[in-house]
Amino acid sequence: MDCSDTRSVLVILLMKILFLDVDGVLNSYKTGGRYALTRSRVRRLAHIVSSTGCKIVLSSTWRKDPYALKRLRRVLKYRDIEIAAATPDLGKERGLDIQAWIVDNASSEPMKFAIVDDDSDMLDHQLPHFFQTDGDYGLTETIAYRIIEHLGRITHDRISPSTRPI
Ligand SMILES: [Mg+2]
Repeated sequence: MDCSDTRSVLVILLMKILFLDVDGVLNSYKTGGRYALTRSRVRRLAHIVSSTGCKIVLSSTWRKDPYALKRLRRVLKYRDIEIAAATPDLGKERGLDIQAWIVDNASSEPMKFAIVDDDSDMLDHQLPHFFQTDGDYGLTETIAYRIIEHLGRITHDRISPSTRPI
């Protein structure tokens, strides 16, 4: 019997979301000007996306500025990163915008999320998912690593029929 014909693959769908701020995350207040994006910070974001398979939901004020958004999309596209969505603007704490997006997009798929921002106006129950950057430095390697660990890495392991437990 050819085992490969009967091999079944268990796929667990887990929606991973990274709520992304830009100023103080993908740039730093020390080096950045308006519309600045720092290459090393964008590279760290790309590492998070490729390691975890997360989708980006923009929570930054850049989502409200067509020029900034166009520029951000262009720079991220170069790294194969797409912005999947943006949070609504309720005009209060950013945590409320994020919560509104989660409620609007809740589905039967489990969702795991992380928030990266240099500001701290998140809701209490979001704090275990919140990774705060120092605006003077932006997204550091350490914070990128912690976000990857939080969201979980993509596993590329394949179980071959010969090694599959019986
Ligand atoms: Mg910011």
